[in-house]
Amino acid sequence: PIPGSEPSAAEAGPGARTIRSHLEDPRAADVQAALAGGELSLAYQPIVSAATGAISGCEALLRWNHPILGPVPPASFVPLAETTGAITPIGAWVLDTACRQAAAWPGTGRVSVNVSPIQMQEPGFPARVAAALGASGLATDRLELELTESVLMRDPAAVLRNIRTLRALGVSIALDDFGTGFSSLGYLQQLVFDRIKIDRSFIGALNGGGTSRFLIRTMHDIAHHFGMAVTAEGIETEDEARTLRELGSAELQGFLFGPPLPGDAVASLLREQGPRRDEAARQPRSSG
Ligand code: C2E
Ligand code: MG
Ligand code: MG
Ligand code: MG
Repeated sequence: PIPGSEPSAAEAGPGARTIRSHLEDPRAADVQAALAGGELSLAYQPIVSAATGAISGCEALLRWNHPILGPVPPASFVPLAETTGAITPIGAWVLDTACRQAAAWPGTGRVSVNVSPIQMQEPGFPARVAAALGASGLATDRLELELTESVLMRDPAAVLRNIRTLRALGVSIALDDFGTGFSSLGYLQQLVFDRIKIDRSFIGALNGGGTSRFLIRTMHDIAHHFGMAVTAEGIETEDEARTLRELGSAELQGFLFGPPLPGDAVASLLREQGPRRDEAARQPRSSG
């Protein structure tokens, strides 16, 4: 090789491969340190009622500001955190932070937290959730956990047990990215989901013609048959919003209604909105 150039992995012997792969993908090494380094934060995306347009909840979305790379999207670092095991402490931090921030919001809106299959398989997970609720003072019915179909691929019995324990606490469970997984639909008969979230890939395909509309309609039929509510994700246009309302979505989420926002920005949005009509009817005004 040219003098002074890097030796190849083969020349450098065993061990060099690991070092090289870390140099090529610094995220694999750094994701472990991101939590302690204070590089993680949560953004909250509004979810609105299809009927009234009022914000009924927010989804907490993990953000990582890498000191050198800048923002790294969760779709690339969450899988890394899952393989390294870092998802367990990171997931616990997400849960604690989302509950604490949501408890300080005005109103009684929900906060939805994405949970990794790795977290969901741990027998101690429901206790972890109960601790986050207890420490924050957030009412249990204001927390929703979002799981993807892949959660049931390994050890479904353990996962179903955890889901049932969590629902008994009053926490609701949403099935995220519905229709994009590879698992059987038979699990729906277990009746452990309160809601399905229709993946935005179906919404984005709406302009393409009839097939997607048919699939979306069928997903609503399935959800309603099993007593589940529907949230449509990734709504970007008024046309899409109108179609999803027609097809029976209870809630809508997407850039049309708002991007993921920092916690304080979402708090002022909720303050501006004031009490929802149904809340206002129940709560006497403190002044005026
Ligand atoms: P997800 O749970 O399905 O979240 C929705 C994703 O769609 C978010 O991407 C959101 O920013 C994006 N989105 C929302 N509305 C629109 C829209 O109108 N158009 C388009 N093009 N995109 C929209 P994000 O924040 O990059 O998150 C990606 C995925 O990373 C999430 O998908 C979720 O699976 C995972 N994730 C995020 N936060 C966490 C977390 O705290 N824990 C775990 N385990 N996974 C997380
Ligand atoms: Mg989600
Ligand atoms: Mg989703
Ligand atoms: Mg997703």
